[in-house]
Amino acid sequence: MTDILAPHGEPTVTAEPETEFQALVRRMLSELGEDPQRNGLIKTPERVEKSLRWLTRGYSLSVRDAIGDAVFEEDHHNMVLVKDIEMYSMCEHHMLPFFGKVHVAYIPNGRIVGLSKLPRVVEIFARRLQVQERLTEQVAQALMEVLQPQGVGVVIEAAHLCMMMRGVEKQNSKTVTSAMKGVFLDDLGTREEFLRLVHPGNG
Ligand code: ZN
Repeated sequence: MTDILAPHGEPTVTAEPETEFQALVRRMLSELGEDPQRNGLIKTPERVEKSLRWLTRGYSLSVRDAIGDAVFEEDHHNMVLVKDIEMYSMCEHHMLPFFGKVHVAYIPNGRIVGLSKLPRVVEIFARRLQVQERLTEQVAQALMEVLQPQGVGVVIEAAHLCMMMRGVEKQNSKTVTSAMKGVFLDDLGTREEFLRLVHPGNG
């Protein structure tokens, strides 16, 4: 039996071999004119890989798994709205973050979902390389499929670092996108109620 705390000559440094991903990041650092071997950067490729894999983990998550058995039969026919869901995503054009708030509403048709599941659905699609328009559409579409409600409305307000940092637009500009399905699309009153609840100030 070996004593794992006893010294065995050389200390066991468990240096993992560099992944292909890390080699690419190291190469990118060189291309930017940096010295990937300097102290502050030596572990950067490893950190970048870890963080990017985490920030894009939505690829391996499914809406059905996230919602699980949190769908309940319920005879409720009024609007359910969860607003101000925090969202962080990455634009696929520049691989820079965009972030903001998501407002999700639906009108049930015999089935409701646990409220905490709505932010999880947002998360699944936000944690990918995205464009805000598609993210909005995917959240709405996923809820239509899972809940088969009378309708779904999704509004996303986000700030894009690719615009802000590069000085393309005014620093405080926000991009607003919406996706309306079912009664949210067909019925003006429903849509207006949703938008009024999202922004109580705007009439
Ligand atoms: Zn961008």
